Amino acid sequence: MENQEQSGKRLVLVPGPFHGHLTPMLQLATVLKSKDFSITIAHTQFNNPDSSAHPDFTFLRIPDGLSEEEVRNPDLIAIMLRLNVNCESSFRECLTQGPDHMEPVDKICCIIYDALVYFSETVARDLKIPSIAMHTSNAATNLVRPILLQLKAQGHIPVPDSMLQTLVPLHQPIRFKDLPLSNFGSLDYFLEAVVLMHKIRSSSAIIFNTIHCLEESPLVRLHQRYQVPIFPIGPLHKFAPTSDVRLLQEDTDCITWLDKQTHNSVIYVSLGSIAKMNQDQLLEMAWGLANSKEPFLWVIRPGSIPDLEWIESMNEEFKECVRDRGCIVKWAPQKKVLAHDAVGGFWSHCGWNSTLESICEGVPMICQPCFGDQKVNARYLTHEWRVGLELEGEIERGTVERAVRTLMKEKEGEEMRQRVLDLKRKVDVSIDDGGSSCHYLSEVVELLRSF
Ligand code: UDP
Repeated sequence: MENQEQSGKRLVLVPGPFHGHLTPMLQLATVLKSKDFSITIAHTQFNNPDSSAHPDFTFLRIPDGLSEEEVRNPDLIAIMLRLNVNCESSFRECLTQGPDHMEPVDKICCIIYDALVYFSETVARDLKIPSIAMHTSNAATNLVRPILLQLKAQGHIPVPDSMLQTLVPLHQPIRFKDLPLSNFGSLDYFLEAVVLMHKIRSSSAIIFNTIHCLEESPLVRLHQRYQVPIFPIGPLHKFAPTSDVRLLQEDTDCITWLDKQTHNSVIYVSLGSIAKMNQDQLLEMAWGLANSKEPFLWVIRPGSIPDLEWIESMNEEFKECVRDRGCIVKWAPQKKVLAHDAVGGFWSHCGWNSTLESICEGVPMICQPCFGDQKVNARYLTHEWRVGLELEGEIERGTVERAVRTLMKEKEGEEMRQRVLDLKRKVDVSIDDGGSSCHYLSEVVELLRSF
């Protein structure tokens, strides 16, 4: 506290308004708070974070001007483009004529913003405040995203079936089918957003929630691409374990259930905070798990299956079959689950946070990417780090059953477990004193103090 008063440095952090973006930004805020900065979280009304969970931060709500109809739009990219247009002037106003408790704008030493909310950089530049961009996806995705436009111009996007397995030149191991395309709405909107997100403009540096030991080669190439310093300071959840955003009430009973299971016996299943599945996929997943005969803990988010409240379509036969072996919840304390001794595998959509969390606990994965960077992450998990099995094609119970058995019971799965444990040890070294992430974090703090 004393130091904070002495330094008087205030940072404004602007998270992207999605669960997987809010969490790492709040983790970064917690880390920077511990380095004696005062923190303001400037957030959109859309998907606003719960300020009561973070009493140490000041929260500033940016009026985003989205109508109820716009908020209901399933095309999240269209929402982002609109938000960036709407928020530019309202953010500027918030900073210059904000509430009484806001410090004068000249006390703000830097604006750190999620690359999704690039309007923040325009405002920072206008107000002559230094800014830093943060990407919450990995370095490999950031390397390949900007070439999407060029691939479209060459007629390779949408990707023709004949090219799905072809490696993208200069971006191995990524194949055309792994390109981080969105499956929300219009391709043109998406490509427009990609260009805007990747412009570095006046920002002084770029932060990545990744780790040098995982992405050495993509990071080297990003260093060459950008003229500003790049700071891979992940995994942020290890530096700030307590600053999670909870999308839903966590079901802690599942930990009691895990306590009764044996070492490495349970497969944990979750497709994150956005991905949806249809009723057929739900049934194929369910019967694949049931037929594998392995214990499972499965997160099914309410609302993730169109036209269903939750899992009311699952019949008694299934429930009876998995009664002693399955636990289904609406939202789990994922990091605790992955750290639990009973969990031996993670069937995941491969969101970047989930990927990092699994690697950090040494848990091998079944990869079922749905869209965007998840496809790049899955390809790295299966072909670069070789700690995950790819679930290819349509979800079908036979394939699911085989994949679960392979991961949990067979030699191939055990080899993946050994490799992910090796990776975990490397990550542990990175976050220790003198490790790469720790070093880059000190550099970020030094840069911020210099502003
Ligand atoms: N998560 C959780 N409980 C759940 C499912 C997910 O706490 O039941 C958390 C998980 O730990 C991760 C985040 O939600 O931090 C999901 O982020 P990710 O980048 O993996 O995927 P997204 O939700 O952005 O698709």
